[in-house]
Amino acid sequence: MALRVGVNGYGTIGKRVADAVSRQPDMTLVGIAKTRPSFEATNAVRLGQRLFIAGTGKESEFEAAHLPVAGTIQDLLKQVDVIVDCTPEGVGRENARVYKEAGVRAIFQGGEKADVAEVSFNALANFAAAKGKHSVRVVSCNSTGLARAAAVLEHHFGVEDWVATIVRRAADPSESRKGPINGILPTFKLPSHHGPDVRTIFATLPIVTTAVVVPTTLMHVHVNRVRLRNPPKDRRALAEAFRTTARFHLFAGWEGVEGTPQVMEFAKDRGLGRSDMMENALWEEGIELKGQEAYFFQAIHQESIVVPENIDAIRAMFNLAPDGALSIAMTDKSLGIPAPPKAG
Ligand code: NAD
Repeated sequence: MALRVGVNGYGTIGKRVADAVSRQPDMTLVGIAKTRPSFEATNAVRLGQRLFIAGTGKESEFEAAHLPVAGTIQDLLKQVDVIVDCTPEGVGRENARVYKEAGVRAIFQGGEKADVAEVSFNALANFAAAKGKHSVRVVSCNSTGLARAAAVLEHHFGVEDWVATIVRRAADPSESRKGPINGILPTFKLPSHHGPDVRTIFATLPIVTTAVVVPTTLMHVHVNRVRLRNPPKDRRALAEAFRTTARFHLFAGWEGVEGTPQVMEFAKDRGLGRSDMMENALWEEGIELKGQEAYFFQAIHQESIVVPENIDAIRAMFNLAPDGALSIAMTDKSLGIPAPPKAG
């Protein structure tokens, strides 16, 4: 029998996770929970997703909008094996108590502090650590991108030291009230929180991060300098380590991908749901090796990179796949993410 999944919070991440769940052969989307009617609720109903009322939401508002509701979040919790919490930062922590009282396992997102769940998760890095757990936190978009890269670099070469600058998008494309619309804003928490967040997965990774916010909505970009313990023979071998790993996409120089606008244009042309780019996007020309020092840029599509990770987190919690590689392969096939070429 397919695992019964609910999604609470239906914004940027929640609507994508709900769609992804409904594409899995071993899962059923029981319903989604929203606090108020919106165009996204209309779309959920159009997609045949059952709508439940979350938080302080009022049935009368949904009735006035002619949106049929199947009950409240409490009703949804009675019908699911796991709830994926995709509510705004901080709300997940409040909800954790509700899920626990209902006896339902839960997944939280990276906006919550690490102690909201038993373990922080990335499918490439620590799938096994989430096996059988009752609560799991999928780390944020930037931490997911860094954790995937760390999984590759630690596995192949070992990391002695890593300095990363996170060039952060100011807002998601739909967030019309956020800024800045001009200027570059340094983050004055030094080092930034991203390094410690990656260490919720790789406890001893010697990574230090800083961040600046820039006026773009498309993607984040990470500028990385990593000292490798056992470096490969040349930059091509370094590129191969990324290319042959699931959830990495490398652009060749001849493709004319100058930056994030072309990465997202590629994603639109490729035509996966919502034009998403769920892989770490790297430029071959942006990978360099000088002795032990490796340099690479990677672009991270903040709206979608954590979506496949949520699916793998569910599989790990319920032992639906024996290991991370098999779960990743299942998830990626269902979502249309290309499998990587074989190494060698
Ligand atoms: P969002 O604001 O786009 O969506 C959150 C949704 O939850 C909204 O529809 C909101 O109305 C709804 N909501 C508010 N209170 C609620 C409640 N009590 N119960 C149910 N729903 C409620 O936010 P998002 O960008 O999807 O972020 C969700 C989580 O994912 C956060 O922890 C965030 O840090 C994390 N995350 C976001 C991104 C990103 O770039 N957008 C990337 C990775 C992780």
